[in-house]
Amino acid sequence: MTMTVESGVLLRDMISEAAKVGLALSCSPYWWGLTIGGMISTGAHGSSTWVGSYVHDYVIGLRIVTPASADEGYARVRLLDNNHPDLKATKLSLRVLGIISQVHLATQATTLGKEHEFGDIVWYPYQRKALYRHDDRVSSNVSGDGLNDLIGLRSFSIPDIELARASEDTQEVTGDAFGKCIRAKVQTSEFKIAGFGFTNDGNLFTGYPVVGYQNRLQSSGNCINSSLGDLTTACIWDSRIKGNFIYNSAISLPLSKVKKFIEDVQKLRDLVPQAFCTLELQNGIEIRSRSALTPRLFEDIIEEVEQMAVFKYGGLPHWGKNCNVAFIGAINKFKHANEFLKVKERYDPSGLFSSKWTNQILGLDQSGVTIVKDGCALDGLCICSDDSHCAPEKGYVCRPGRIYTNARVCTRISSNQFIDI
Ligand SMILES: Cc1cc2nc3c(=O)[nH]c(=O)nc-3n(C[C@H](O)[C@H](O)[C@H](O)COP(=O)(O)OP(=O)(O)OC[C@H]3O[C@@H](n4cnc5c(N)ncnc54)[C@H](O)[C@@H]3O)c2cc1C
Repeated sequence: MTMTVESGVLLRDMISEAAKVGLALSCSPYWWGLTIGGMISTGAHGSSTWVGSYVHDYVIGLRIVTPASADEGYARVRLLDNNHPDLKATKLSLRVLGIISQVHLATQATTLGKEHEFGDIVWYPYQRKALYRHDDRVSSNVSGDGLNDLIGLRSFSIPDIELARASEDTQEVTGDAFGKCIRAKVQTSEFKIAGFGFTNDGNLFTGYPVVGYQNRLQSSGNCINSSLGDLTTACIWDSRIKGNFIYNSAISLPLSKVKKFIEDVQKLRDLVPQAFCTLELQNGIEIRSRSALTPRLFEDIIEEVEQMAVFKYGGLPHWGKNCNVAFIGAINKFKHANEFLKVKERYDPSGLFSSKWTNQILGLDQSGVTIVKDGCALDGLCICSDDSHCAPEKGYVCRPGRIYTNARVCTRISSNQFIDI
């Protein structure tokens, strides 16, 4: 069954409209404040090893507006169906081909039966625990009105968000790793008791399994309704307030390499367990709690895990959520990159929809994706090669990684501490 969606429609509205006619996207991002155009342009995904994990896997056609000559009215509308040779390029277009204005999706009816279609694993290395989530399709006549209102995507009062950030900052400044670990453990326990935001009937969590329609269980994000005017409540990552410190690097690893990667991270965890208190690894690899702008406790560990995933294990960066470092050499990991560039040349030969940044990540601008300046490694703009790329005045200097020794990371030293190099 198919549906047609205007590209600016929010994921929230799209899945709820689809549900009305008995359709569901089995895998979609957790946050529903994304548009269909933005999602497919950056390759956004849910979590599954099945085909159908990426939102663009469901796209069977689209309408894209590309630049054109004055004779053509400066714009050319192209309609692409499933047999069109350019469809693959236009699906994950990084915006450089033009503006997608409409998307045709083929979704599967919710009545199809499959097992463990959706899987999600969150690994808490410090706690030596992993949280498994398995979603199975059931027949649509199985009763249940489950709802996912993921805690992290709810609205919170701004003073509460700012207080949480202030306490986190204090722990950072005072080097209170113990406090951070306690806080992370308490939070995980609270989330577990609260069913991570799941309720069985839309109100109360009484236990698993939670049964309901996929459009109510996969994506959520009630903070999108936060009061914008008076700013009394907000999403915890809202940049207008000094909110929670959140950063996700998202890198997909080939399944064949996941085991070795996990073993390396375990070795690192065993060396510096406290460094992993607030670090969560989810599925492929989404590193949460990355530092940026200012050095954080265990900056080096976060940088090492990231460089390990990208360079040692050849991970592919999510195009919509990474720092510059993850994009170094990324385009060379895609064997059909040249085909994509040929479509780009045909659709937008003058580069109207390109920028220095898109040229850099597509390998068209030889200056590369990194920006080298003081402190650049702390912001993911470069891999450090000099202490000035870290924050030497705060004790952060550039050193090799501990397990992946090819990594170069900003390590915190103090005058009475020896570092192995
Ligand atoms: C809280 C949060 C949670 C997230 N969770 C996930 C997740 O679970 N899984 C995941 O994969 N990703 C996730 N993401 C990342 C997200 O999927 C990407 O950042 C996505 O690109 C954002 O979509 P948007 O509609 O906000 O697009 P924008 O941020 O507005 O745009 C992203 C890019 O797409 C281009 N673009 C947008 N619309 C069009 C169009 N119509 N035609 C051509 N180009 C277009 C823009 O120019 C830009 O380059 C999350 C992001 C946030 C903020």
